[in-house]
Amino acid sequence: MKLYDYIIVGSGLFGATFAFRAKQRGKKCLVIEKRPHLGGNVYCENIQGINVHKYGAHIFHTNNKEVWKFVNSIVEFNRYTNSPIANYQGKLYNLPFNLNTFYQMWGVKTPEEAISKIEEQKKEELYKLEKLGIKEPRNLEEQALILIGKDIFETLIKGYTEKQWGRKCSELPAFIIKRLPVRMVFDNNYFNDKFQGIPIGGYNKLIEGLLDGIECITNANFFENRNYWTSIAEKIVYTGPIDEYFDYCCGKLDYRTIYFEEEIKDISNFQGNAVVNYTDRSIPYTRIIEHKHFEYFGSEIEKIPSTIISKEYSLEWEAGMEPYYPINDIKNSQLMDKYKELSLKDTNTIFGGRLAEYKYYDMAPIIEKVLTIPNELI
Ligand code: FAD
Ligand code: UDP
Repeated sequence: MKLYDYIIVGSGLFGATFAFRAKQRGKKCLVIEKRPHLGGNVYCENIQGINVHKYGAHIFHTNNKEVWKFVNSIVEFNRYTNSPIANYQGKLYNLPFNLNTFYQMWGVKTPEEAISKIEEQKKEELYKLEKLGIKEPRNLEEQALILIGKDIFETLIKGYTEKQWGRKCSELPAFIIKRLPVRMVFDNNYFNDKFQGIPIGGYNKLIEGLLDGIECITNANFFENRNYWTSIAEKIVYTGPIDEYFDYCCGKLDYRTIYFEEEIKDISNFQGNAVVNYTDRSIPYTRIIEHKHFEYFGSEIEKIPSTIISKEYSLEWEAGMEPYYPINDIKNSQLMDKYKELSLKDTNTIFGGRLAEYKYYDMAPIIEKVLTIPNELI
């Protein structure tokens, strides 16, 4: 008999939700986390009464009623709706691409006018692809051009995407841009999902609820004591980078990382919105987050006299930095296939989450994934 049924490496949403379910099944878990706090990338630090999203802005959204019910059973969510603004060379545009954006871009006022303008904008690219006999767009640039046309691609997509990914749009996979809705209504809600919000009191409440009654150790890196951690548990749940788990035997996977430049401002409202994207290539950061707007609305905003902003600079990942975004290009996908093969042979370990699956997961699909593991497999 070992001390624990599971040692869970990483206290992000995958690890914490798994621990919650395993506890419900009567299993004994130990969560180890190499950072000095729990929560993975959803961790927030309360500064002057404002929950600062330390690892980037996180907005929960899902169409899955079960997932929404589950998270709300742990902590109640507020009514935050994400409506980012894009700033291109000082001019503001609404996102996602909707009739407000089209009015701001071209002065068109009706769906009919907007559709006809977009059709005209897309024509050149569609003609080019047709001539080459290409049925499916091969990369993000082609996808964006046939989705929304040249003006929006050049103003709102190209600079932002190239800053975020450090690669040309023509070298990135098409699916990245498919995430963004295109709407023929005046609707600035960034997501199409039915349910959306931020936990009241911040994401730490969600993590605390999931990990309630579960033994957790922070500042504990699995690889610094791998044999010991493995020896005390029947099974491992691993949510860290998959290449590190296999000692980089097939090579290193690439990531993008983000540098957050945080500033406290002595005014109650800096930019009037939680998220402002800077889509021009010449501005070095991709966006400015004003954390207050996730949890304070209307007249509540003025009650705290200061505000906290983070400028996000996207960089290529190097050892020692936080790996944020997996890069789903051909080279990394092929490398990941090799690690996937190795992971399937390791039947004592469950690999899950953004880093262990090397997948661009949002929060809700991570939770859904854990909730749908059959009981008998936990
Ligand atoms: P993580 O949260 O990364 O947790 C993994 C944990 O494992 C970390 O705490 C890490 O320290 C720990 N760990 C790693 N290696 C070891 C080790 N060797 N020993 C011990 N511990 C280890 N999703 C949304 O739905 N909406 C959003 O608005 C949104 N915004 C995002 C913005 C940014 C900048 C990023 C990067 C992601 C965003 N996401 C968003 C995605 C969301 O963060 C993830 O889906 C989710 O947090 C992934 O959870 P996870 O448990 O897989 O990984
Ligand atoms: N994007 C863009 N302009 C914007 C916002 C997003 O071109 O103002 C592109 C960019 O390529 C990004 C993708 O759309 O990677 C998906 O955006 P989302 O906001 O979903 O990305 P996240 O920051 O959540 O990963």
